[in-house]
Amino acid sequence: MSDLVWSTLWRLHIPNKLKIFGWRVCHDILPTRENLARKRIIEDRTCEICTRGDESALHVLWECSVAQDVWAGSIRKLQKGICEVREIRQLVESMIHKLNLEELELFFVQAWLIWSQRNLVLHGGKLQDPTRLVQRAEDFLKEYREDQDIPATGIGAVIRNDSGEVMAAISAKGPAVFDSEEAEVLACRKAVEFAVDSGFYSVIIEGDNCTVMNSIQSMSRTRANISKLGHFYEDIGCIILGLQEVSISCVSRSANTVVHSLARHARIIEDEVAWLELVYGVPGIYAGYNI
Ligand SMILES: [Zn+2]
Repeated sequence: MSDLVWSTLWRLHIPNKLKIFGWRVCHDILPTRENLARKRIIEDRTCEICTRGDESALHVLWECSVAQDVWAGSIRKLQKGICEVREIRQLVESMIHKLNLEELELFFVQAWLIWSQRNLVLHGGKLQDPTRLVQRAEDFLKEYREDQDIPATGIGAVIRNDSGEVMAAISAKGPAVFDSEEAEVLACRKAVEFAVDSGFYSVIIEGDNCTVMNSIQSMSRTRANISKLGHFYEDIGCIILGLQEVSISCVSRSANTVVHSLARHARIIEDEVAWLELVYGVPGIYAGYNI
């Protein structure tokens, strides 16, 4: 990878996990079906979503009809017909040449959302409306940029397996919030996103704010929440829709002490820190926050 690609990627104002995603894209090491077939882990390299081509990184992030539908709704410079390339590195390089840094940030966030959706669909989830993914990318960046300048809260989440062992944990900075409900909803969204990023698709979500847990519960049934926090609930609902199995419950605050320590730890870090065990089980997520 050229120095330009690397140095540009590192200058972007996006969360570190997205820089790492971008780095994996540029090195073509995402576990696409083409890469898995090359390593002889699977034989069939066909894209399972459209079944119309081999699933390379370029295919899944750019050429697949599902990806095209998303890019078609994005800013003009990111619309598909504008750029014809043969491999993923060429695509990234051409984007670096024609986009300014903010547009490039949008490109990587959108590509990451397309990749996350692909993972969810392959694990039994449903495709989302492309306009919803376009909106989610814009909201994601807007929130991230706003969060940089204001006093932050801390978010903590732990993923345990069915024996109660910690499989993964995250400590992350969150935005300033209006009240404890907002803090808990944001923590829950971060926790569910983290579970999917880490490859967990059957989860029990536990939090200690019963109002929030009940709203998420009813959200997954009625799919509508008109409160001021509605769009956060909607994000959670969309992610949950992609999970294989999910149940939601309220636990006492004392069951969540590790999570609250992680949330306090977030005060002294810059962005977010995650710990991952390599052996996956059936996890429960414990989400919490600390103002
Ligand atoms: Zn496809």
